[in-house]
Amino acid sequence: MSRVTYPQYTNRCGWNALLPPRDPKPPLTGNCKVDFAVVGAGYTGLAIARRLAELRPDASIVVLEADVVGEGSAGRNSGFTTKFVLPRNASLKIAETARLQSKYFAEAFDWMMSAIEAKGIDCGLHRAGTIRAAATERGEAAVRSVIEVAEKNKISHTVLTREMITERIGSCYYRFGMEMEDGYLLQPAALVRGLVDILPENVTLYEKTPALKLTRANGWEIQTPEGMVRAGRIALATNGYIRRFGYLKSRMATIFTYAALTEAMSPADAAQLGAKESWGLLPSHRLGTTLRRVGNRLLVRSLYALEHEIPQSEAVAELRKRFIRRWPSLSHVQFEYVWGGTTAFTMNGAPWWGRIDENAYASGGCNGSGITKGTMLGKALAEVMAGAHDHQELCAIMGSASWIAPDPFRTIGFHVISAIERRRAGLES
Ligand SMILES: Cc1cc2nc3c(=O)[nH]c(=O)nc-3n(C[C@H](O)[C@H](O)[C@H](O)COP(=O)(O)OP(=O)(O)OC[C@H]3O[C@@H](n4cnc5c(N)ncnc54)[C@H](O)[C@@H]3O)c2cc1C
Repeated sequence: MSRVTYPQYTNRCGWNALLPPRDPKPPLTGNCKVDFAVVGAGYTGLAIARRLAELRPDASIVVLEADVVGEGSAGRNSGFTTKFVLPRNASLKIAETARLQSKYFAEAFDWMMSAIEAKGIDCGLHRAGTIRAAATERGEAAVRSVIEVAEKNKISHTVLTREMITERIGSCYYRFGMEMEDGYLLQPAALVRGLVDILPENVTLYEKTPALKLTRANGWEIQTPEGMVRAGRIALATNGYIRRFGYLKSRMATIFTYAALTEAMSPADAAQLGAKESWGLLPSHRLGTTLRRVGNRLLVRSLYALEHEIPQSEAVAELRKRFIRRWPSLSHVQFEYVWGGTTAFTMNGAPWWGRIDENAYASGGCNGSGITKGTMLGKALAEVMAGAHDHQELCAIMGSASWIAPDPFRTIGFHVISAIERRRAGLES
C-alpha cells in the first residue's frame, strides 16, 4: 500500500477563500536537474528557498508544493506572530532560554518584516497586541506565571482585569489576563502568497506537485505525479509530513487543529466584539480556544486530532459551542468557513532541525508558532545547506525534539493525555 505523503484537507481554507482568485504556478511535468530542491511551500520552505537564493544567486532551486499556495497550514493558521518567545506554560526556570531564543525570533521577524515592507506584501500585518486570558482559577495561575517571565525578560505588557478584557473583546467570559504589546496579527494566506511572489528569479515553484518518493542517487531523486527532480541537496519542509518519508518518526506527531470564521456580522452584532476592530486572544491552556476579531468577523480556533481529521459536523458543533459560550447573544451568527490544518507536535515543544541524511535536511515541529519560528529555522537551515554557517548556538538554544513512543502507545497516550488535559482545561476550551 502506498503511503500518503502530503495533507489532503476536507475543506478549503477560509483565509484563502476571502482573497481574490490567484493563478497557481503550473505543476512539474517531465524531469529537471537542480542544485537544491525544497519540499513544501509553507513559511519554512519559502524561507529556505529565499535564503538559499540570497546566498547562492547562481544556484538553481526548486520548491515543490503539494497543494496550491495558501491552502497549506501556512494559510490555515490564526495569523498571530511575535518577536518574543513567551511560552504558555512559562516558569522562571525557562525565562532565560526564552530570552535567548527571542534574539533569534526577533532577527527572523525583522527579516520577514523587511520583505513585507520592501516588496509591499499586503497581508494586513499590524501590531494589535496579544491578549493571554484565563477563564478559570487554574488558568489565572498560568497567566500569572507568564507575567513573571514577561517581567523578568522586560517584555512590555499590561495586566488585565475582567473589566479590561470585557472592554477589549466585548465578552465578560475571562477573569484575568495580560496583553503583550509586541503581538502582531496578519492575514496568513495573504502573507504566504506574498512570500511566493517575491521569490528570487533562480527559484522555481511548482504547485499541485507533491513529492511522492525520495531516492538517494548521487544527490537525490524526487518522484512527483508527472515528473522527477534530480537535486544535489534537498530540504524537507513539510512539517508533520516529514515522517511520511520515513524520517523523524519517533520525534513528531501530526496534529490537526480547527478554525472557523463567522459570516460578516451586522454593525450591531459586531459592536458586541468590543471597541477595537482587531484583537487577538490566546488561551491560558494548550487545549484552550484562540479567538481573533477580524473586522466584522470572529475567528475561533480550537480542537486537536491525531493524524486524521475529525468529522466536519463534529468540528463545527464544537467550535460553535465555544463561540456561543462566550457570546450567547450572538448565537444567531453563522460560521461561513470551518477548516482543519496540520501542525507537527513534539513531546518537549522543541523543533527538529538539521541534517537527516546525506545531502538531505529537514525542519519541522514548530508546534503552534510556525510563522516566525518556521521562518527562523528555514532561514538558518538554508545557511547550513549552503555551508555558510553551522548554527550550533541556535541548535543548543532551541533544543531538539525528544523521543515519542511509536504506535499503538502513541495513539493511546494521545487519547489519555487529551482526556486529562481537556478536563484540566475546563472552561478555557
Ligand atoms: C488552525 C491553525 C492555527 C494556527 N495558528 C497559528 C498562529 O496563529 N501563529 C503561528 O505562528 N502558527 C500557527 N499555527 C501553526 C502554523 O500554521 C505552522 O506552525 C506553520 O504553518 C508551519 O510552517 P511550515 O512551513 O513548517 O509547515 P506548513 O505550513 O505545514 O507547510 C508545509 C507545506 O508542505 C506541503 N507539503 C506537505 N507534504 C508535501 C509533499 N509530500 N510534497 C510537497 N508538498 C508537501 C503542504 O501542503 C504545506 O503547504 C496554526 C496552525 C493551524 C493548523
